[in-house]
Amino acid sequence: MAARDAGRDRDAEVLVAGGGMVGLAFAIALAEAGVEVVVVDRLDPAQQRDEANDGRSSAIARGSQQALAVLGLWDGMAPAAAPIIDIRISDGLPYPSGLRPRRPGGSSALHLHFASAEVAEEDDARPHHRPLGYIVENTAIKRASLDRARAVTAIDPAKLDLRAPADIAELQRRPGGVTARLSDGSTIRARLVVAADGRRSATREAAGIRIMEIDYGQTAIVATVAHELPHDGVAHEHFLPSGPFALLPMTDAKDDAGKVVHRSSLVWTEKRGLIAAMMALDEDAFALELQRRFGNSLGQLSLWGGRRWSYPLTLLHAERYIDTRLALIGDAAHGIHPIAGQGLNLGLRDVAALAECIVDARRLGLDIGSATVLERYQRWRRLDTMALIAATDSLNRLFSNDLPPVRLLRDLGLAAVNRMPPLKRFFMRHAMGLVGDLPRLVKGEAL
Ligand SMILES: Cc1cc2nc3c(=O)[nH]c(=O)nc-3n(C[C@H](O)[C@H](O)[C@H](O)COP(=O)(O)OP(=O)(O)OC[C@H]3O[C@@H](n4cnc5c(N)ncnc54)[C@H](O)[C@@H]3O)c2cc1C
Repeated sequence: MAARDAGRDRDAEVLVAGGGMVGLAFAIALAEAGVEVVVVDRLDPAQQRDEANDGRSSAIARGSQQALAVLGLWDGMAPAAAPIIDIRISDGLPYPSGLRPRRPGGSSALHLHFASAEVAEEDDARPHHRPLGYIVENTAIKRASLDRARAVTAIDPAKLDLRAPADIAELQRRPGGVTARLSDGSTIRARLVVAADGRRSATREAAGIRIMEIDYGQTAIVATVAHELPHDGVAHEHFLPSGPFALLPMTDAKDDAGKVVHRSSLVWTEKRGLIAAMMALDEDAFALELQRRFGNSLGQLSLWGGRRWSYPLTLLHAERYIDTRLALIGDAAHGIHPIAGQGLNLGLRDVAALAECIVDARRLGLDIGSATVLERYQRWRRLDTMALIAATDSLNRLFSNDLPPVRLLRDLGLAAVNRMPPLKRFFMRHAMGLVGDLPRLVKGEAL
């Protein structure tokens, strides 16, 4: 795909900078609706497909899964998707004053329990077949997206044109349109450029859009963990003073001897100062630390594949999502704390909303890159994003500390929510991405 079109000048309707999980989903959404798109990514697709490039798994909310299904992306990643049946949240440490007893054998008392059966529709006879969401390896999402992009290109090469590896060497945005010169020497003209080039978006910076960024002073260590006992679809989140510690259900795999291995994805947040030492631990010592934090409920834990990755955590929000013939989507617009596993889900809601604004405008014969279209997108997305920024930021601040009065209050709060089914349902439907002014794709409808 890349080799055939490299170096070819062309006119398209939309140019997408960045073909990561968000950029490619957006390009596929537009191409499927008949809009001509060029996507530029600086990574070779072979690198995107390589597990070594990204060790994370993503929690995919029900709304995002519905959008991915409409775009024909879900089938490709479904074999790698583990359903989340239950979420168990606990405050990680015992009380010094014995205010509350510890559970026997566990590291902490259970405070909040979300079960898929609690949000099942009234006529849903098999609630366990309607999970709260799914955990999917990022590499599986990227592979499914690249495969789908290739299939769409095969049907009509003009609709989806992926240029990778390539960079935008020069970008001119004028009231009448956009002209980009790519690093392969070709020139692309379009009505609109969409920045999906991640947190350090060069497209956003070149447009002079400022960002608000707050360093959490925390880093997330990510790894795949093998465990003796099955996880039964339970996602565990322990709030520890240094940050959240999550073990999220993944699909089983087979080891070299063909034996089934149960796996979960670890996201272990720690104060940044400790990270170098933790990353330097050998595999056995790391597994021992892990076991100490998590306890024995899944039997013995070990590292699967032997690898660990680390991601410094900051909160980032662009002061605006649009400029002349430019829109920001995904992490280029906002990067949030992974405490609630919502960053990619936010990005996929951007995809659905911007694609809908563009397709609606095009059907009416309007200019798809006009300020009116872009303002509709910005109005639609900023509120949802700001609400999630506030929620994830305050959750992290509330739980990443060890002050006894704060802990008592937050635990009373968790226990209270746990005893109020309607409130629990409200939180769960939010986390599932099923609340608010939802774009058609998120509702499972075609563009
Ligand atoms: C530890 C951790 C755990 C997380 N867990 C979850 C979770 O469970 N659920 C969830 O919803 N979210 C989660 N997130 C957030 C999620 O990973 C991000 O929101 C998501 O990766 C953003 O995707 P993106 O495509 O916008 O950006 P990126 O993934 O950063 O992709 C950007 C793309 O642009 C390309 N690019 C960059 N610069 C250029 C350039 N100049 N020219 C051309 N191409 C360029 C890159 O090669 C890349 O392919 C987590 C994040 C972290 C750190």
